[in-house]
Amino acid sequence: HAKQLGRDSFQLFTPQIGEALRERLALEHDLRAALTAVDQLSLAYQPQYDAQRRIRGFEALARWKHPQRGWIPPAEFIPVAESSGLIVELGLATLALLRRDLDAWKSLGLVCPLVAINLSWEQCRKVQHRERFLQQLKSLQLGPTEIEFELTESACFEDIDKPDSFVVMLQGLGYSLAIDDFGTGYSSLAYLRRIRCRKLKIDRLFVHGLSINADSRTLVESMVRVAHAMHMLVVAEGVELPADEAALIEMGCDLMQGFGFCKPVAPEQVAALLG
Ligand code: C2E
Ligand code: MG
Ligand code: MG
Ligand code: MG
Repeated sequence: HAKQLGRDSFQLFTPQIGEALRERLALEHDLRAALTAVDQLSLAYQPQYDAQRRIRGFEALARWKHPQRGWIPPAEFIPVAESSGLIVELGLATLALLRRDLDAWKSLGLVCPLVAINLSWEQCRKVQHRERFLQQLKSLQLGPTEIEFELTESACFEDIDKPDSFVVMLQGLGYSLAIDDFGTGYSSLAYLRRIRCRKLKIDRLFVHGLSINADSRTLVESMVRVAHAMHMLVVAEGVELPADEAALIEMGCDLMQGFGFCKPVAPEQVAALLG
């Protein structure tokens, strides 16, 4: 049969593609193991600052330390988790890690502001996955004063049109939502009116260098104005330069997050930031 397809069809299976597929399967296999192992997965926390440089919240970011290969970036393992379905288990594990870290900070007498957790659309698309997620939130007692959720605009907009929208359900339970990486998807501004999220996170693509790039500055200014008109708070992602920070404050951006303030840090270091 393959012969009938002609020579070209064989070229689909180049050694490089074989290698990429093997690599993907190896990562998936090891990630499955990591989900049952202790100490391979953890959370890093990146603070969010207001204009007075006070910490107002944190974003929790998944970290994986592979026993042989060391730290594997989320850009590598999150897509594998999403396409394999392991993101569902990873999402539940993330909540458990957050609970553990919150308890540790609490035992030191520290009060932690709201922590944002990233949610992939793949982990809440199916009803049975949503139910496990909500059950996990409940049994770990992670309520709207402890946790909020970040979803990309494509995930939000995919969901909001459904009669049993997960976003609406979470909001009904009192949780606040942030639209992540805003500006990088293909969504229409009209959707903002329908979602009514609490926060809009402007992607670092627009933020980085906005103080010297007139186009970026105009775009970010417009996004801030639109968000405020919709009664949303604006979070700028990827703030690295002092001049960008100054420009963001001048245009009324509510919160800032980026290497210029603080890189994502281990839970033990959060204690020092809060203390
Ligand atoms: P994101 O949610 O947009 O997270 C922000 C990413 O930007 C983080 O990368 C963070 O380290 C990085 N970042 C923050 N400030 C700066 C900066 O000033 N400059 C630069 N160049 N980068 C900055 P990270 O930790 O590698 O995460 C990448 C993505 O992986 C996240 O993007 C998120 O989409 C996904 N992700 C991470 N953890 C989770 C998780 O627990 N669940 C799900 N579903 N996705 C996750
Ligand atoms: Mg995020
Ligand atoms: Mg983001
Ligand atoms: Mg991102």
